[in-house]
Amino acid sequence: MNEESIESTLHEERLFPPLAEFSAQARIPDRATLDSLAQAANEDLEGFWATQACAEITWHKPFKTVLDSTNPPHYQWFSDGELNVSYNCLDRHLREKADKIAIIFEGEPGDITTFTYHQLHQRVSRFANVLKAQGVTEGDRVVIYLPMVPEAVIAMLACARIGAIHSVVFGGFSAESLKDRIEDAKAKLLITADGGHRGGRIVELKAAANRALKEGCESIQHVIVLQRTGHEVDMTEGRDLWWHEAEAKADGNCEPVWLNAEHPLFLLYTSGSTGKPKGIQHASGGYLLGALTTMKWVFDIRDEDIFWCTADVGWVTGHSYVAYGPLAAGATIVMYEGTPTFPDPGRFWKICQDHGVTIFYTAPTAIRALMKYGDDIPASYNLSQLRLLGTVGEPINPEAWMWYHRVIGGERCPIVDTWWQTETGVHMIAPIPGAVPTKPGSCTLPLPGINAAVVDEKGHPITTPDRGGYLVITKPWPSMLRTIWGDDQRYYDTYWSKFGSQYYLTGDSARRDKDGYFWIMGRTDDVLNVSGHRLGTMEIESALVAYPKVAEAAVVGRPDDIKGEAILAYVILKGTRPTRGADKTLTEELRAWVGDQIGPIAKPDEIRFVDSLPKTRSGKIMRRLLRTIARGETITQDTSTLESEAILPQLQGKE
Ligand code: ATP
Ligand code: MG
Repeated sequence: MNEESIESTLHEERLFPPLAEFSAQARIPDRATLDSLAQAANEDLEGFWATQACAEITWHKPFKTVLDSTNPPHYQWFSDGELNVSYNCLDRHLREKADKIAIIFEGEPGDITTFTYHQLHQRVSRFANVLKAQGVTEGDRVVIYLPMVPEAVIAMLACARIGAIHSVVFGGFSAESLKDRIEDAKAKLLITADGGHRGGRIVELKAAANRALKEGCESIQHVIVLQRTGHEVDMTEGRDLWWHEAEAKADGNCEPVWLNAEHPLFLLYTSGSTGKPKGIQHASGGYLLGALTTMKWVFDIRDEDIFWCTADVGWVTGHSYVAYGPLAAGATIVMYEGTPTFPDPGRFWKICQDHGVTIFYTAPTAIRALMKYGDDIPASYNLSQLRLLGTVGEPINPEAWMWYHRVIGGERCPIVDTWWQTETGVHMIAPIPGAVPTKPGSCTLPLPGINAAVVDEKGHPITTPDRGGYLVITKPWPSMLRTIWGDDQRYYDTYWSKFGSQYYLTGDSARRDKDGYFWIMGRTDDVLNVSGHRLGTMEIESALVAYPKVAEAAVVGRPDDIKGEAILAYVILKGTRPTRGADKTLTEELRAWVGDQIGPIAKPDEIRFVDSLPKTRSGKIMRRLLRTIARGETITQDTSTLESEAILPQLQGKE
């Protein structure tokens, strides 16, 4: 037994084999087909990826080198090949799919616009010429700060077309966060909008951009402003220009620039749930390959699918599964501007119904939030077109998984719980829906060509089932990050120092069960040490969420003289929040429940009932901030990604 490992307390035995009807039509229809792919990758990793790269990508100049590992951990893939990512997402579809719908867009106010592949190609070409006219050339950085509208995708593809490196900054970020990211990337151009619609209000993007530019951002030469809301904004003469005016003057032909496969496609700053944002740098060829293979393997994408990934393009999920993956695969996507609950909590289900969505991909936080409103709302929409569901972003609690399966999926749709990171570019551990039986809360098995392991402090594989440790990736993969922008040292320190340049350190903890399935237990930073037992936060949270009255929970540790760490749980109830004093019975009920479900060791020492939890704008619980609060320390973290600061007194147990 390994003493350093993390104990598992979650006992989840339910198993859902793929339904025969699904498997019969799936791209990977059974375990044998999957195993032969995986075996090919095990026998010859480079040969496997080379075959995939030839089959999936249209190359301008074919590659000869597959993996270049001469300078680890700066691995390079297909590095003597040339391609253009926008060509692969647009031009190559024009012969057969010019009139196929590429994007169905629904704005929050209800406006609907569609773009065929032909139209999208036109818009991207024109806008690429607009960028060129502003002096943007290969290798320049362009920051995109837009609402969730098709122009965000157009801007990304236009950058890719001319070899400019985009850095999309989520429209919910503050002026300060925008400024930090522009300055770190030394961006030449900023693309923003007057505003966007969110939760029934206007998000003042241009005003925030103006504040950011006033305080610095010297590298920015021009600002292109999209008219979305139409309200009055301050424009600076000579610096700012309107998107529609510039596009009207631009030529509709723009030849793609052929780029080396290692040319950086984009930078994306991670959400910062664990610290100062880092500019994750991705390359063109390997990233595109990963986006395409996962669209096929994990999402089983077919020509007739209507694919909706609800993520904002400001997150990696929006890069890989709103923009690059589905468009490179020639699919039809849905894009939605607003929040899931505007004007009511039926909005997501109405969009699925109205546009005939067949594949739906969202975050556990959205599922838990919508689950709170009960089964009747989704039941009043026709969701019969759905055939596949997915989740990403956080571990999904088994009870939320079951609700998703039963109420949204009609017990008919496989659920792909996809584990991956900004750094990995695309899905890494996820079920192949026609071939792999799923278990609620498990992301199942690594994809073909992906080598994942759970290791102890010394880097040795943990072989005892259900003992948790460090999740690492033991071999390079095509869509891996190439470095942290402008900070190689931080790249080594963060990902390659603990186990040398052999193992990529994910920062997550995980366990494998007796079937070899992976279960993510949370971040390694969040592991609790209670009376000598190391416990992951996710499993205690899942036990709490399994209690019928509980909608959501977050668990953190606080120093304790006797136990080392005491467990503090923040709980959101499905009904109203009990006032302080009136919550004693419920606290005891919940403690007893966790004791029953997991064991006395995991009983929370204190429970604080709150109305909401601090989340990043992508919906992740900010456990680091909760830990600071639990310890009564002063808050030094950047809280600009918080949805609301008004909840602080509740979290501090003062209200
Ligand atoms: P930062 O690195 O700045 O703290 P972040 O890690 O939240 O930000 P992302 O790259 O968007 O930024 O998120 C990746 C992380 O999200 C993973 O490391 C993991 O902790 C979590 N995650 C993503 N998908 C899953 C999943 N299916 N199951 C469990 N956890 C997941
Ligand atoms: Mg991370």
